[in-house]
Amino acid sequence: MIFITLSAEQARDPETEALGRDHVGYREGMTPAEMYHANHGTWVIGRNRRHERYVLFAFRGEVKLAVEIQRIETIIVRSEGDTRDDRCVIHGRILEPGHRVHDAYVGRPSPLGAGRNPVRYFDSPLDETHACRCGCGQQVAGADFLIGHDHTALHDRVRQIGTVADFLDWFDIVRGNRPVHEPADLNPSASTLR
Ligand SMILES: [Zn+2]
Repeated sequence: MIFITLSAEQARDPETEALGRDHVGYREGMTPAEMYHANHGTWVIGRNRRHERYVLFAFRGEVKLAVEIQRIETIIVRSEGDTRDDRCVIHGRILEPGHRVHDAYVGRPSPLGAGRNPVRYFDSPLDETHACRCGCGQQVAGADFLIGHDHTALHDRVRQIGTVADFLDWFDIVRGNRPVHEPADLNPSASTLR
C-alpha cells in the first residue's frame, strides 16, 4: 500500500502548477473530493510500486483519505532551473465508509510513524495478494508478476521453443501472421537462380 503524508494547505500558482491547481495539501473541513483533487499528484513513486492497489493520505498522524488506484500516470514536471523531473499522478476512486480499506484506516492513527519522505510504502494485511504468474510460488499484490518475473516467464517460454528467432517464427505461424522474412528456399528470386 502507498502511504502519503500531506502538508498543511499551501497556495500554488495555477499558471505554473503541474496540474493547474491553486492549492495543495490538507485543510480541516476539506471534503474527500477536495482532498483528492489537491493531493493526487505530483509524487515521486518508485517504479516497482506503480502496481499498488491502494493509497492512504495522512495528515499529522491520522489517515484522512483512502483511494483505490486505477492508474498511475507519469508526467514530466519542469521545476526551477528548467530541470525536468519524472512525477506521478494517481488516478483512482475515493473509498467510502463500508469499504474495508476505508474502515480499517480512515479517521484512525497512521499505520506509519513520522518520516522524512512524503511517499512511503507498507505491507497491509488488506493488500490482496495472489501467486506470481511466473510460477515462482511467491505472493504479489496489485500486479500479475513480481518485478522482473514477467521477463523470466517470457524467456522461459522462448527457451522451450529455441532461440528468439525460432520463437518469432513459431509465434507468427501460430498467429497466422505474415512472416517477416521468407526462408531462403521459398524465396522466388532465389529459386529462379537455380
Ligand atoms: Zn515470480
